Amino acid sequence: MAKKGKVTRKVKRPIIKLMCTVCKRASYSTRKNPKNTPDRLERSKFCTICKKRTPHKETK
Ligand SMILES: [Zn+2]
Repeated sequence: MAKKGKVTRKVKRPIIKLMCTVCKRASYSTRKNPKNTPDRLERSKFCTICKKRTPHKETK
């Protein structure tokens, strides 16, 4: 019952950038599933420029 290979390429998930809303720098990139999150992604992440946790918004 061993799974061979990676066959999880059916859904194309575009790579998006997460921009810090404080310093406006895109310091993170992630992938998202448009089906699960059709709206703009917003995540609280640690910004290395601001040196603190800031809300990061999806940008292109
Ligand atoms: Zn920042």
